[in-house]
Amino acid sequence: MKKLKKIALIFLSVLMVIQCAGCGNNEKKTSGIQAENKDTFLTDEYIEFDIFLEKSEDEDGQWKVFKEAARMTNVGLNCTLSRNHSGFASAFNMMIASGDLPDLTWVKDYLLVAKYAKQGAFVALDEYLDECAPNISKYLEENPEIRKRITMDDGHIYYMPTIPGGYARYGYFIRQDWLDKLGLDNPDSPEAFYEVLKAFKTKDPNGNGKADEVPYLGSTESLNGLLTFWGSNPGWYSENGEVKYGPFEPEYKEALKNIRKWYKEGLIDPEIFTRANALDVLFGNNTGGACRGMIGSTAGLNDKFADNIPGFELTPMAPPSGVELTHRNKTNPWGWAITTSCKDVETAVKYFDFWFSEAGNHLINFGVEGEFYDLVDGEAVFKQEAVSQPDFRTKLTSTGAQKSIGYVQDFKYEEQWINQIAKDGFKLYEEGGYIKEIFPPVENTYSEDELEEYQKINGSITTHVSEYYQKTILGSNEDVEKTYDKYIKELKSLGIDRLIELQQIAFDRYNKR
Ligand code: CA
Repeated sequence: MKKLKKIALIFLSVLMVIQCAGCGNNEKKTSGIQAENKDTFLTDEYIEFDIFLEKSEDEDGQWKVFKEAARMTNVGLNCTLSRNHSGFASAFNMMIASGDLPDLTWVKDYLLVAKYAKQGAFVALDEYLDECAPNISKYLEENPEIRKRITMDDGHIYYMPTIPGGYARYGYFIRQDWLDKLGLDNPDSPEAFYEVLKAFKTKDPNGNGKADEVPYLGSTESLNGLLTFWGSNPGWYSENGEVKYGPFEPEYKEALKNIRKWYKEGLIDPEIFTRANALDVLFGNNTGGACRGMIGSTAGLNDKFADNIPGFELTPMAPPSGVELTHRNKTNPWGWAITTSCKDVETAVKYFDFWFSEAGNHLINFGVEGEFYDLVDGEAVFKQEAVSQPDFRTKLTSTGAQKSIGYVQDFKYEEQWINQIAKDGFKLYEEGGYIKEIFPPVENTYSEDELEEYQKINGSITTHVSEYYQKTILGSNEDVEKTYDKYIKELKSLGIDRLIELQQIAFDRYNKR
């Protein structure tokens, strides 16, 4: 079968060469893909851009979605990064250092974009947007905050990011069936939450006669959520324009004292810092009670465990503190850029713009029309038989859909395969007003010297903070009252004041954009 396909391909190529020779212009290239509608072409002559992007697993290394885009736009991609590279960042640095730049490149880190843009590696896209990119221009006009996030301090835009769909990210979940069994209300304050966890620990809601319940569990992100119960924050935030670092603020002390108390009382998973797949393991063996987790996947546990655990009902709840500190990125650090070696910048910008058009947006979000989805009244609707397959997402993304190029992710892509509980969870968090805006990505406003200083101090500070955090919560002999002053003193000697000063400079610059 494979052989046949190959022979057919060779035959087709031969045919193309003959055709080309026939048209009397040997220079003229062809995409080899018959276009249905030349109105959508971005260029009369087929052009193929080399791009620093992983090849697909297909025999020819081409993603199906990009082949379809070539059919529509007459612009193709030739991926130059082998699948066996040793980490994207080092491969990317080597590519830049070689001076041999492809036309386009995938990027994964806006600090690197800022760094190499200063050295002249990337085209300033903003200079072409009015002329060549009506869809991107319109989008940025309607979304000034996105424009601000991707504009560098020199006023230029050097990359188009992946712009996530949806807003809410993490949420609290609780075993509603356990609350019902014990006759408890949904806890709406940290104090009420504490009482519920105590009851989970002592009243045997899983009914096996053992005190084996793990009332609160999850990753360290789950644990960090508890900090808000005492008005604390695990990282950077701003208050009335003033930059603050949560672990250096007085509320942190109170929070650690209380989390430590909860931990010692057995309300928090004893292995919270080390347990892999905590939600799967502890909800799966019917011992987990409540957590803070990614809304979509945590809600999905209901489908996974309902058959084996009678009555299993893991339900999203409002944050007991009324505050949720995470949301999806408004722009991701990854996306793509045009290098200054690009052979045809205008066509490349038009191509970037294609992915912001309706056709391009459908293609990158939902794959090739007719394969996984159909257009129903102008809306992309996944075929039921496709969505219901357990490996649906893998199949879809293996075609290149959802590849993290510069595009706007459509939440409808996700909405169609998450369950109703997840939808309710997203709605609860997005409409409840709990989500606090996270600190913006200000690091790309730093000069090279400032960035180096920031990274150096930040490295030792975060190490010290996380060591103290773990030791305080887990330690058998720790007393926050006795260790806290020393902890603060150490933060100062590591340069916390200077770090806050640097972040304030960057934050002020960011706000001036
Ligand atoms: Ca039990």
